[in-house]
Amino acid sequence: MDGLMKGKRGLVMGVANDHSIAWGIARKLSEHGAELAFTYQGEAFGRRVRPLADKLGSSLVVPCDVEDSASVAATFETLGEAWGGLDFVVHAIGFSDKNELKGLYADTSRDNFVRTMVISCYSFTEVARHAAALMKGSGSMITLTYAGSVRVMPNYNVMGVAKAGLEASVRYLANDYGPRGIRVNGISAGPVRTLAGAGISDARHMFSYQQRNSPLRRTVTIDEVGGSALYLLSDLSSGVTGEIHYVDSGYHIVSMPALDELKR
Ligand code: NAD
Repeated sequence: MDGLMKGKRGLVMGVANDHSIAWGIARKLSEHGAELAFTYQGEAFGRRVRPLADKLGSSLVVPCDVEDSASVAATFETLGEAWGGLDFVVHAIGFSDKNELKGLYADTSRDNFVRTMVISCYSFTEVARHAAALMKGSGSMITLTYAGSVRVMPNYNVMGVAKAGLEASVRYLANDYGPRGIRVNGISAGPVRTLAGAGISDARHMFSYQQRNSPLRRTVTIDEVGGSALYLLSDLSSGVTGEIHYVDSGYHIVSMPALDELKR
């Protein structure tokens, strides 16, 4: 099992700190032998990401702001020069103005709608295009999504709409790149306490509600998301593409609160 990712090189985008989902994924991939590169958004995050990358023996740490196409292109140019190829990509990036992650979805502004879509949805398509150009023979890509894409979650608002677009992108990209042996999948994670998660109003109530009402009666850890990412990025899942894989303690299968909750 230890060598599942041995000989594979990949890019992890979206580590902000050691609570980030991308960090849980990176740790798991590294444990299984992957060689990793990281991106960070701006120098303040760079100061946090470099020591983390260092812990996993990675010195390829490059700035990338996905709002800027030139920055995305430069990232993959750097990777191409350093490695000459690429086996996998982890896209764990999302953003929306927190002032609009509360209240009515109907009040979403045009500016924030566009910005949220560019960063949280389109960026995966742009990243996939650059990554695929470096993948020779086969490859695997994943992005991170949330069940607010398919069902209404309080305050998730425009992020839910962006995640719906992101999940559709997973299917279209899987179909585009499948003939070249490149797989594209999404992980729909349950709520995790991260910087991005904290931007959603009343997030702590959602968190404890899912702890009480998911089949496993708990939320998930970044390590558990990492385990599923390892499966999707390794050859274990060689027949799987275009899939949205839920890592949410089973919360998405229930249609009503748990009995204990109903009787409260
Ligand atoms: P996080 O705050 O640790 O990570 C979000 C990352 O997005 C940060 O590293 C940030 O720098 C990056 N980012 C934002 N705008 C960017 C830009 N313009 N250019 C480059 N990078 C940018 O939070 P997280 O919860 O680990 O989020 C990772 C992914 O997981 C996101 O897509 C998020 O929507 C998704 N997700 C989170 C949860 C949760 O409950 N935390 C649940 C399901 C899915």
